[in-house]
Amino acid sequence: MIDYIPFHKPTITEDEVNEIVEAVRSGWWTMGPKVVKFEKEFNSYIGSKFSVAASSWTAAAHLALEAINLVADDEVIVPAITFTSTAEIVCYFAAKPVIVDVDKQSFNIDPKKIEEAISDKTKAVIPVHYGGYPCDMDEIGELARQFNLKIIEDAAHSLPAFYKNKMIGTIGDATCFSFYATKTLAAGEGGMICTSKQEIADRCSIMRLHGISHDSWKRYSAEGSWYYEVVAPGFKYNFDDIHAALALAQLKKIDIMNQQRREIFEKYNAGFASNELIFLREHKIDRTSSHHLYPVLLDVDNLTISRSRFIDELKDLGIGTSVHFIPLYRHPYYKNKFNLEEKNFPVSEFIYNRIITLPIWPSMNDNQIERVISAVNALTRKYKR
Ligand SMILES: *Cc1c(COP(=O)(O)O)cnc(C)c1O
Repeated sequence: MIDYIPFHKPTITEDEVNEIVEAVRSGWWTMGPKVVKFEKEFNSYIGSKFSVAASSWTAAAHLALEAINLVADDEVIVPAITFTSTAEIVCYFAAKPVIVDVDKQSFNIDPKKIEEAISDKTKAVIPVHYGGYPCDMDEIGELARQFNLKIIEDAAHSLPAFYKNKMIGTIGDATCFSFYATKTLAAGEGGMICTSKQEIADRCSIMRLHGISHDSWKRYSAEGSWYYEVVAPGFKYNFDDIHAALALAQLKKIDIMNQQRREIFEKYNAGFASNELIFLREHKIDRTSSHHLYPVLLDVDNLTISRSRFIDELKDLGIGTSVHFIPLYRHPYYKNKFNLEEKNFPVSEFIYNRIITLPIWPSMNDNQIERVISAVNALTRKYKR
């Protein structure tokens, strides 16, 4: 029986265990000192002006859209290849997610498609740095200036990533991160809003806890009091000290984990370089990916098996893979609600029909990396048309 190489495996050391035990023993289990400490350390790691923690990316981005005053009938441009969260948060406002095609080389939102989709109702764009590889932020920034749009970045994959020496988290009006179990910084659940705008940070931090005016979480501590004021009908979206304990431990080693991902990325690139049935996406030198995902496109036109069979065969060889993502316009809700047709998203269709995401997690060893490379290469050889 060969060892199964899972698609994802969290990096756990005694740090996580010790931090969690400390949080549990402290008796402070909801938002408290560890959340504050994590916000501070995250903020200085990113080099952001403000960082506001929330219970998930979805919560964080919902707060960010509320803070830029998104209202019903507004439009927000999102890429077709992303997780449903990116678009569902727009629907929360009875606003319209305008789904556009992606770029064939980067798999990211195509600035030309953004421009074509802009209308009088467009209020914002949500670029998704797919797999952690940064979008064309100069081009998107230029459109935002020209058409007065807000940029809310979906950085669920992008810790840490750089665009022209700027860290992702320091560019858009707000950038939202995810600390979901499978992300590059994993806390089980969690999210963060980074922004340079005081109004956005203030509004998010009030709205994440019931619309209660500032620092109300302190009301049960020695320096607090029983009095608080509700200034808006907010949400229950706060982060908590138990998850923040895991997040603090993970943040300490984020650069090491990133370096490990980069090494796997480079080994994969070398391993697939001479396989003409595998297409790898571009990696421009002006930007650095977090390498959250390692996507490859199979040349299915020159293979005798489908992508889905390819995934099954890899599984039989003990390798877990995935597909990121089923494009938004293929899901019944978006398809029916917004009358979307596959033929209007030719690039996303091309990618979706060919893509496989391979395992890339920090503690993969050389033997496991080598097994993934030789399995993929052996299968393309075996099923070459
Ligand atoms: C995981 C993910 C999200 C949602 O993150 P949560 O923290 O689970 O809410 C949003 N966007 C993308 C691209 C994701 O992969």
